[in-house]
Amino acid sequence: MRVAAAATVIAFALGAAACGEAPELGTIAAASTVGDHETTTCATAVVIELSRQIAAEVDCMSPGQLVAFAEGGGIVFAGSAVLPYVSETAREDLLAAVAAGAGRSLEVTSAYRTVAQQYLLYAWFQRGRCGITAAAVPGNSNHESGRAIDVSNYSAWIATLADHAWDQTVPGDPVHFDHAMSPDIRGTDVAAFQRLWNRNNPGDAIAEDGQWGPQTEARLVVAPAEGFARGPMCAPGGLAMSIDAIDAPRVMAPRARATVSLTLRNSGSMPWPAGTAIVTAEPAGRASGFAELGWPAPDRPAVIDAEVAPGAVVAIDVEVVAPDVAVVTELTESFAMLAGSTRFGMLALVVRVDPDASASGGCNAGAAGGGPALALALVVVVNVSRRRRRRS
Ligand SMILES: [Zn+2]
Repeated sequence: MRVAAAATVIAFALGAAACGEAPELGTIAAASTVGDHETTTCATAVVIELSRQIAAEVDCMSPGQLVAFAEGGGIVFAGSAVLPYVSETAREDLLAAVAAGAGRSLEVTSAYRTVAQQYLLYAWFQRGRCGITAAAVPGNSNHESGRAIDVSNYSAWIATLADHAWDQTVPGDPVHFDHAMSPDIRGTDVAAFQRLWNRNNPGDAIAEDGQWGPQTEARLVVAPAEGFARGPMCAPGGLAMSIDAIDAPRVMAPRARATVSLTLRNSGSMPWPAGTAIVTAEPAGRASGFAELGWPAPDRPAVIDAEVAPGAVVAIDVEVVAPDVAVVTELTESFAMLAGSTRFGMLALVVRVDPDASASGGCNAGAAGGGPALALALVVVVNVSRRRRRRS
């Protein structure tokens, strides 16, 4: 679809009803700080939004060192706090191992972890909470390295993962695997947090040195668990996107149509030029599995005709159609913003396509009653900015 002006929405209705219920992933009470959660919970999902900002800022600082891997094809995310990022080489070997697993599912309970998540784990450990018997000091966890995963059904995977350079490296921690061939970027998350803090608190700037210490800790404790107002930014372009709201189905029947309503904010310092598009990511130009006839092109669900100023919000309704599959299929699709030749921002849709779901509408069908479909919420990866790689 095309959006004629920043505040105008033109939907291709095609008889499909919008899904009224927004799926939720790790919904958090408003306006909490990271420190608020030292005594209230045992789930790092409370800082997942801040963590996504940190991961996206890391990607700005070190392009390619954190790439997303998706559910499906044998990979299952166990829990809502999984940040599915590892380095490119680690991902290659992980996908090869899963392919060699001949249909067995790999249940990932943890992958990348940011300094905000590690801070809470360490605080809980220090307080004797949550049954944590060991935790690394923030900035020092293997999970901050971009080359670690935890696998709950590890015993079925030890040999296959080892064949692909993923090894159990921590004695007494059998769920933990490292890909030691990949670069270790731990500390980059600390620097990313420091950059985000300074961007949002110019009157209270701290060193951007990647070192965990009392100055950084004092700011992390009071940082917003839901993320900063000014999000990740890939210098020098200043193009950035954050997601204010999203409404999409979590389960669809094959060939069912639904509306995905996006509220996107220009969180960068530069305007989005007229003609900025939402496009499929990785690889560029690939047709989307959700593509509808009403799209400007199979790889782009929407084009924004008017310039969007920094801080402005644009609402976009995108009609999607579920692929025609005969078995339950978990479909993950990543989209990026494209302005000229510059990519920025990312959002990922995770939808279960279920032949047993109601064919009428397809909105959340099968999810009632707390069945397994509830575990498959729509995942929004906020603000993962990517630089287009140069081929030279
Ligand atoms: Zn681990």
